[in-house]
Amino acid sequence: MILLEEAQKILNETSVKPKTELVNLDEAVARILAQDIISKINIPPFNKSAMDGYAVISGDPSERYKVIETIPAGKIPQEKVHPGECAKVMTGGIVPNEADRVIKRELTVEEDGQMRTTGKEKNKNVCITGEDIKKGDKVLEKAILIRPQEVGVLASMGLDKVKVFKKPKAGLISTGSELVPPGQSIKQSQIYDSNSYSLSAQVLKSGAILFDRRMVLDDPDKIKKVITEFLYSCDVLLISGGVSMGDFDYVPPILKSLGFKLHFEKVAIKPGKPTVFGTRGHKYVFGVPGNPVSAFVGFELFIRPFLCRMMGHAYEPFLISAVMKESIQRRKTQRASYIPVECREGFIKKLSYHGSAHIHALTRANALLCIPRGVREIKAGSQVHVRPI
Ligand code: AMP
Ligand code: MG
Repeated sequence: MILLEEAQKILNETSVKPKTELVNLDEAVARILAQDIISKINIPPFNKSAMDGYAVISGDPSERYKVIETIPAGKIPQEKVHPGECAKVMTGGIVPNEADRVIKRELTVEEDGQMRTTGKEKNKNVCITGEDIKKGDKVLEKAILIRPQEVGVLASMGLDKVKVFKKPKAGLISTGSELVPPGQSIKQSQIYDSNSYSLSAQVLKSGAILFDRRMVLDDPDKIKKVITEFLYSCDVLLISGGVSMGDFDYVPPILKSLGFKLHFEKVAIKPGKPTVFGTRGHKYVFGVPGNPVSAFVGFELFIRPFLCRMMGHAYEPFLISAVMKESIQRRKTQRASYIPVECREGFIKKLSYHGSAHIHALTRANALLCIPRGVREIKAGSQVHVRPI
């Protein structure tokens, strides 16, 4: 058995070769940027009015100004502004070169082609060329996650395509002779296969491609056949169940017989101790225990960060700092425990949780609390960091 940190180190040091592709900006959200973005333009590209008002020359002491032209957004000014003159300009319009202030409309009256001020304008109300982004600035860095705001900034620089990392193709195999797909009736001794669905959802949410999923009996030949078939097309396989100590847990020996090197088969975490990770060249495989919370937690701790690495991104969970509302204890301390909790307004509340089969508890939880190895109790009032789910 290895420590959680050792398992994570192995995953972080496993060589991955993310490929890249060019996508339309419309398809760029939630992808990982595969290039530094250097702006080819200034933003704003011209001195731009921040207000509807009148562009004047700073220090012009006039109280009345002749209105020489009107400049809507999108129009090039035609006239020069001299002292005693102003150009009526709309928000987003070009402020003529000679002018450097805009008196907002609310502080003016316009009559017979003349503008008169009725109050003191404190602000310049001019956005200077390049004040947001200068031509040549590095605006975005390679390997960041593209969010809607990054899509916006890419568009504002005039880019309609962007280089991103390709999504890895994941194949999902649920092993278990007791499993029945949702939608069918079950007999006694059978259960519904929930992991195929929860893991698929996690794969999709992580940004990877779900190539296919298959349910397979606890039969070594059948399991081997599906794994071999999936390996043709998938970059990474996720296998649920069949990794523990039972008589019908065949997955690790099958992977070895297929030439996979297993880098770990047991990790000091709860739930999820018999989590497996193997590689064969640039094919990767994870085996997670079948209990639904184990599979879920295993995905969050190991698979999501690895899929992100396969997409060129160093995943860091956005931990939330909060205070324990009540104490939480446990008897054994050899493993790091991950417990579903509710985090609200800075406090952590315990939930009814019966262990790794209790998937319903995850639906009430919005975070996982880690009790580190060696720690028996986290006391009420102590500050912790939880991982949102
Ligand atoms: P295993 O890891 O195969 O020993 O399975 C551990 C427990 O998880 C058993 O109670 C299984 O019935 C259950 N289980 C296994 N696979 C699934 C699955 N795909 N969906 C829901 N429960 C499962
Ligand atoms: Mg099983």
